[in-house]
Amino acid sequence: MKKSVAIIGGGPAAFAAAAFLDPALFNVTIYEKNKSLGRKFLVAGKGGFNLTHSEEIEAFKSRYSPTGFLDAALTHFTNHDFRNWLAEIGTPTFVGSSKRVYPEKGIKPIAVLNRIIECLVAKGVQFEYEHEWINWDENNNLVFTNDVSISPDIILFALGGGSWKVTGSDGSWLDIFSKKGIQTVPFRAENCGFQVDWKPDFLIQNVGVPIKNCTFSCGGKHQTGEVVITEFGLEGNAIYALSSEIQSELTSKGRATIYIDFKPGFSESELQIKLENSDANTTQALKRTLKLSPTQIALLKSNLTKEEFTRTAELAKRIKNFPIHLTAAAHIDEAISTSGGIALDEVDENFELKSLPSSFCIGEMLDWNAPTGGYLLQGCFSMGARVARHLNDREI
Ligand SMILES: Cc1cc2nc3c(=O)[nH]c(=O)nc-3n(C[C@H](O)[C@H](O)[C@H](O)COP(=O)(O)OP(=O)(O)OC[C@H]3O[C@@H](n4cnc5c(N)ncnc54)[C@H](O)[C@@H]3O)c2cc1C
Repeated sequence: MKKSVAIIGGGPAAFAAAAFLDPALFNVTIYEKNKSLGRKFLVAGKGGFNLTHSEEIEAFKSRYSPTGFLDAALTHFTNHDFRNWLAEIGTPTFVGSSKRVYPEKGIKPIAVLNRIIECLVAKGVQFEYEHEWINWDENNNLVFTNDVSISPDIILFALGGGSWKVTGSDGSWLDIFSKKGIQTVPFRAENCGFQVDWKPDFLIQNVGVPIKNCTFSCGGKHQTGEVVITEFGLEGNAIYALSSEIQSELTSKGRATIYIDFKPGFSESELQIKLENSDANTTQALKRTLKLSPTQIALLKSNLTKEEFTRTAELAKRIKNFPIHLTAAAHIDEAISTSGGIALDEVDENFELKSLPSSFCIGEMLDWNAPTGGYLLQGCFSMGARVARHLNDREI
């Protein structure tokens, strides 16, 4: 007789689990609190829709923290497997110049979601909308807001993280798990912007301006890429990638500092020689010889005294290691992702809750983190695929 599987939450982790559970072994139902599936998936599609990243798998795995937690899932369902599966269900992808993977031009996020839902329907997956899970009862049945209570053979929680509450992923389940004796970690904004107390004059001239092709560092981690100056502070992929290190420093010291290398292709002494050999005044040398942007030059001027600015050794040092102080993270609800959720010690290597056999947690609701750029969705899909494989194997 087929076993019943209830998947609670209808986002990417749920899709993968439902898609790969063997319909000959399981009756699968997704319970979603919204009237529709995948609202955060569609939000992700509004900017650059990075479904995954084309990086070679060993480097790919190294992007996740904590190290090793997702290795088995990513090995089981790699970025290539994900792309192949998407192509099979009618969503071909392409690799952009950044090596990120996008749906082929002209394929809108809603079309990607629809192909996935069609795939689930074809597998016989059932959907229960407007079903918000609110607790277990005394017999460990799952209770929903509309007085429905169910006791499936297997439960997959795929409730998402704690940002962008409007999508349904509001993290309100954290307390329910804590009260059940399952250890949770408070949500923390990741892949988010950070506050900088810009001088008003600098802001007027530079708001919206990108700082490109630089290396940004914090807490020993280096990230080459781009950030954008905003009224709040800094946004952009390079700062998102450092969000864990910045958050840790904010927690321990009350403020954090990132360091920018404006000229990663040159050493400090090379820069100094270039400046010394220039006939132009310092500002013109920075512009013409070193090709620094007006924003980069304005930053240097704001950070150095007039005397320091004209001393080539001092200037070269600052070009290679320019500090920006960050005072706070953006509001958690604006973050692309969150860490925190279910503590990783609570689940085994198949994401099964150690204290609740046959209940599993997958996706962003677990306390892991990765940079944006396709790694988050890949992590969620890989976890779903891995749980499905485990359950299929367990039933045979
Ligand atoms: C602005 C933005 C841009 C992003 N861009 C990218 C990108 O380009 N690439 C990338 O890899 N990632 C991106 N992400 C991250 C990615 O969308 C998420 O990591 C991913 O959606 C998480 O999947 P999930 O299945 O774990 O949870 P979610 O997608 O959050 O789904 C969880 C579902 O559970 C439901 N739910 C919650 N509580 C209950 C309950 N009690 N009962 C029933 N249902 C419940 C929610 O309504 C929701 O539908 C982006 C995120 C944001 C916000």
